Amino acid sequence: MTTYKWFVYYKDQLLVEQQTNGFHIPIGVEPPVKVPIGSTIHNIGTLQDIPCKAYAIHIPISGEEAPIRQMVGLRASYDMLPFEEYKQAGKAFQILNWDQNTRYCPACGVPTKQISDIGKKCPECRQEFYPHISPAIIVRITKGDSVLMVRAKNFRGTYYGLVAGFLEAGETLEECVHREVMEETGIRIKNLKYFGSQPWPYPSGVMIGFTADYESGEIKLQEEELCAGAFFHKENLPELPGKLSLARKLMDDWLDT
Ligand SMILES: [Zn+2]
Repeated sequence: MTTYKWFVYYKDQLLVEQQTNGFHIPIGVEPPVKVPIGSTIHNIGTLQDIPCKAYAIHIPISGEEAPIRQMVGLRASYDMLPFEEYKQAGKAFQILNWDQNTRYCPACGVPTKQISDIGKKCPECRQEFYPHISPAIIVRITKGDSVLMVRAKNFRGTYYGLVAGFLEAGETLEECVHREVMEETGIRIKNLKYFGSQPWPYPSGVMIGFTADYESGEIKLQEEELCAGAFFHKENLPELPGKLSLARKLMDDWLDT
């Protein structure tokens, strides 16, 4: 009998379970909640050598099970789960989202068939469908002891972030960084360097982080997207983004040096 880690979602809410050492993804031989008719159980790889499965439920678990078992948003689960379980939960969410959005071929309208853990195929036109991942860049721009931070209109809360944006068709990542910085702030940058990347399953992104130095130009904010933005001195920073974001890792890296 095989034991699995079970990633169970109701919409964007993830099932977590309190164990003796804090919250975890439920583990066991059988699914922790009845699998609804029509819901596919997906294999999503292994975590610490334990195979992982994911499925969607149509009704959240009853509140009476709280606090032992509860449904939490993926972002909130970052503060509750060990990091590796949070990361795998993001993968599970992307696979379930893909499954939900590829039930029919967009060209033929017929039901697709699953051909692998992450592949589906249209039986009519033979087109194949894999999880879409949308790349976005994010860049930390420094000028001496100051860093460029911006506040997007769609940010929840009161924190500031870094210049970021989605890759466009036909663009290199480097071109994307230069374009986004110019569009959002009107400045030129130099010494662009790769920093690191991070899956961003909200719902299907990957963030690709860079660092750069200010080169020239006056800040002129793109008013449709940003409500504030400026170079802030190290000693006088606004509220930083949350720990789970690559923006914060870029900031912490800068503050540590
Ligand atoms: Zn088709």
